[in-house]
Amino acid sequence: MKKINVVESVLQANDAIARDNRALMSGASLLSINLMSAPGSGKTALLEKTLPALAREYACAVLVGDLQTTRDAERLEELATAVTQINTGRGCHLDAAQVAEGLRGLKLDDIDFLFIENVGNMVCPAAFDLGEHLRVVLLSVPEGDDKVGKYPTLFQLADAILLTKVDLLGVLEYDIGRVRDDLSRINTRAPLIELSSTSGQGINQWLTWLGEQHRARATPVAIGLKDD
Ligand code: MG
Ligand code: ZN
Repeated sequence: MKKINVVESVLQANDAIARDNRALMSGASLLSINLMSAPGSGKTALLEKTLPALAREYACAVLVGDLQTTRDAERLEELATAVTQINTGRGCHLDAAQVAEGLRGLKLDDIDFLFIENVGNMVCPAAFDLGEHLRVVLLSVPEGDDKVGKYPTLFQLADAILLTKVDLLGVLEYDIGRVRDDLSRINTRAPLIELSSTSGQGINQWLTWLGEQHRARATPVAIGLKDD
């Protein structure tokens, strides 16, 4: 019983900071997106394609979570207005306090999109609200077609789901029908975008979705509605 109470209070403290993060980012009219997936699903590769395309119209910043190294930040630093690496040490997910610290180093009013690349992990990132506006979950073809059913919490919360590395569909045995079937039971709201950062398939659909989300969010802020 005690153990459960401790976990709950950690999450409550996290959620309070997340609400502050969200208010801060909404006030600056930026759209923040929490990218979550297993390690190696292609979050950084996706950002390498996404950031240069968005840069024509939008100012983008990235917070990158990893246990160790600045490798992902180095891959992205030329492509965005600001890139901050958050090293979590042993922590296998980002929490709202780490994001709050990352936000302090950014000029939020000058940013249109903030991408938060979470630590590669399909379990606990789902429990930690960072204050993001939208959650995007990546699932890569090499991981197998059974993951939606095995990690339902992550997929339940997603606003969009990206099936990545679809260039490997002809190489690996993979049943997209199984993914769609599992999703039909747990999340019918989020679009499933089939995408390959290698071939470029689906990138335009993803960019269109991002543009729509940005416009949809910018409008209520402009007329003064609370969007929390
Ligand atoms: Mg990465
Ligand atoms: Zn964790």
